[in-house]
Amino acid sequence: MQLLDGKLTSNTLKDEIALEVTELLANGGKKPHLAAILVGGNGASETYVNAKVKACKKVGFDSTLIRLDSSVSESILLDEVRKINENPLIDGLIVQLPLPKHISETKVTETILPEKDVDGFHPVNLGRMMLNLPSFLPATPAGILELLDRYNIETSGKHCVVIGRSHIVGSPMSILMARNTKVGNCTVTLTHSRTTNLEEITRSADILIVALGKLEFVKACMVKQGAVVVDVGITRVKSATTKSGWKLKGDVAFDEVSKKCSYITPVPGGVGPMTIASLLKNTLQASKQN
Ligand code: NAD
Repeated sequence: MQLLDGKLTSNTLKDEIALEVTELLANGGKKPHLAAILVGGNGASETYVNAKVKACKKVGFDSTLIRLDSSVSESILLDEVRKINENPLIDGLIVQLPLPKHISETKVTETILPEKDVDGFHPVNLGRMMLNLPSFLPATPAGILELLDRYNIETSGKHCVVIGRSHIVGSPMSILMARNTKVGNCTVTLTHSRTTNLEEITRSADILIVALGKLEFVKACMVKQGAVVVDVGITRVKSATTKSGWKLKGDVAFDEVSKKCSYITPVPGGVGPMTIASLLKNTLQASKQN
């Protein structure tokens, strides 16, 4: 078994991005600028946004973090989005999800200009992705493609099973793995909460991508010998051994599954850092196009 080391790979990617920023500035360009809006902020969202802002600094981007109270109205949030849309100094915008129940995520996503939608969630970007046209790819699936690519994982003709059909991970992932691209050309099965014979399907996966948000859901008996396993899930569990009092675990029972597969992503240090690196890559692209 070999680890698909997202931390290491994302650091390489960040070094490459930082180098491009240096070149951009040397040629008279401006620093790429990412804006992030955080509404309320429970522990996890706060952690993710802070990690994104920190990553911007590391590669030489400017960043702006706008914090709004959890009671903010939908119309005020939409006005903030429009202001950033119109600000020529800002290249990319993300609104950290989930949002409070009284705000429509769809409305917010649709209000972000597709040219600044570096999370790749706008229907225009998702539609262009479907058609294999240039677009901002959703950051998590894009990070997984990059990881598979950098480890030279053969995907063509393989059976890829995706667990979870969310709009931000599972659904776009299934489309990307089926596209006629270098990392792609898989035969894809997209499974979800209504799938009846899940274990039978996962056991036939050459590549298994797991994004359902249930702690250690995938056991060794669900995985084919030699499969490539990508674990997207993040669950915080209490821990007596860490300073924070909690640690992150995935959707895959790592200890038993890792003995059976050829490659596997750890949690933490797998898909998470690759997601952030993809967001930076999208922001750099947005800045070049701006
Ligand atoms: P979600 O929570 O929106 O949806 C879960 C999906 O799992 C649904 O499509 C549902 O049909 C499916 N599902 C639920 N129970 C199932 C079952 N028993 N069998 C098969 N499918 C089942 O999904 P999400 O937003 O993609 O998040 C999934 C996990 O990935 C979460 O733990 C989240 O924190 C994590 N996540 C990680 C990153 C990262 O960068 N590492 C990014 C996004 C999400």
